Amino acid sequence: MDIPTAPLGQSFAALPNLFYAPVAPTPVAAPAWIGFNSKLANALNLHEAFWRSEEGMAILSGNKTSPHSQPVAMAYAGHQFGNWVPQLGDGRAHILGDVTGPDGQIYDVQLKGSGPTPFSRNGDGRAALGPVLREYVMSEAMHSLGAPTTRALAAISTGERVQRETGLPGAILTRLGASFVRVGTFQYFMARGQHEALAQLADFVIERHYPELRDAEHKYVKLLEAIIARQAKLIAKWQLIGFIHGVMNTDNMAVSGETIDYGPCAFMDHYHPETVFSSIDEFGRYAYHNQPRIARWNLGVLAQCFLPILHDNEDAAVQLAQDAINEFAPQYDDAFQRGLCAKIGLPFSDENMAIAVAFLDLLQKHNLDFTNSFRALVDLDPAEIETNAEKFEGAGWRDWMSKWTAAHADETTLLADRQEMMRRSNPRFIPRNHLMERMIEEAMEGDLSLFNTLNKVYQHPFDDQPEFEQFTAPPKDEERVLRTFCGT
Ligand code: AMP
Ligand code: MG
Ligand code: MG
Repeated sequence: MDIPTAPLGQSFAALPNLFYAPVAPTPVAAPAWIGFNSKLANALNLHEAFWRSEEGMAILSGNKTSPHSQPVAMAYAGHQFGNWVPQLGDGRAHILGDVTGPDGQIYDVQLKGSGPTPFSRNGDGRAALGPVLREYVMSEAMHSLGAPTTRALAAISTGERVQRETGLPGAILTRLGASFVRVGTFQYFMARGQHEALAQLADFVIERHYPELRDAEHKYVKLLEAIIARQAKLIAKWQLIGFIHGVMNTDNMAVSGETIDYGPCAFMDHYHPETVFSSIDEFGRYAYHNQPRIARWNLGVLAQCFLPILHDNEDAAVQLAQDAINEFAPQYDDAFQRGLCAKIGLPFSDENMAIAVAFLDLLQKHNLDFTNSFRALVDLDPAEIETNAEKFEGAGWRDWMSKWTAAHADETTLLADRQEMMRRSNPRFIPRNHLMERMIEEAMEGDLSLFNTLNKVYQHPFDDQPEFEQFTAPPKDEERVLRTFCGT
């Protein structure tokens, strides 16, 4: 069969070479498919027959460079756990080029685990199978849960071992991002005093993510505001679904407003605001309840990088940056509070917010599962205090149920509509840590059935899917995963 090639655009590589190092992926011994995301490929009108061919696999494993592609590793800097690192960059990733979806949105196609680059420092440029599968499943689940995110297009095993604490099977992830420009990309140029590059980068970001600002007056001020607004929404979404990123360094925060870099991330099982999973997050800097504060800190760093392009007058620039950053908290609060009230089926008001917060307090006090407890509200009749209270263990529920019931009784909207709002706000399925662990263990034994099943389940996280009931259960004591490790 004659399969036409599928050319990739080169809009990132068209930037001056200060922005990246041109470097090809390193070939691997014996590539084999682990996963290919046909649904995503079809949604973007990608040429599936090409990408699934021998030729497609050769390109996505790094064994062949398409004649249309100039692979690059992106330069960036960043604060890691608050410590300044002047040069990080893609140490194990290559942007091959870009594809354009039917709506005109461009996505960079990036391989992760595809070999060393000039930014690898002491790293081997590779990725182990476990973290690749984890990112594949979790990023696709996040998308279906309504959280903007990079997407997983393909996973390929390399037939090579990578050396971590032990030898592990290696793999390469193909991921798509609206771009991979991070807060740390701006920091890279700011730290070098390359103000012209800052403006070029800002223009690239406007073209890619905020084209409506192209001809705006004070476009860089508006760009900063727009990035802050998208992050406020994103972090609110994380909080509402119980997602803990785990490594919110400034190099892991995308200016597109997408979730990027799935390393030690995890979903919270029982509700506790101080929940931390990442083994390297010793002091809980990136704990669940700290995420909004850290996002604001990261955006403050971004605002500083914008100073040279906001205004010719330094004081005026500082004032503009400050005004922009001050918008984060109210925008986050608005998105979070509306979302939290929606989870209990009510419109936002201070009174309803108090009821929602009281629910969280009860979950914490009784060590209850965040996801399942909210989801349980979907199936309750807000008028039946007695039977409802029995469904939750422990004291305090009757009182809470009567307040919740009273609030619903005050509503004039249809109860069915409020229940539908709860259904769409409270997922039935989340990629729980113990399931991710089990999936990885089985995949290491060569069994991809759980990987495949979970990918299917998480495509419809808000549907009941009774045949998959088993995946709604929180971990049993012996299944509980307390620590996650950086995606290596
Ligand atoms: P992360 O914590 O995943 O955001 O990665 C931080 C930095 O380490 C980035 O510059 C990565 O590209 C780099 N890095 C992580 N793992 C490796 C590896 N195995 N080889 C080379 N560089 C790596
Ligand atoms: Mg990173
Ligand atoms: Mg990582």
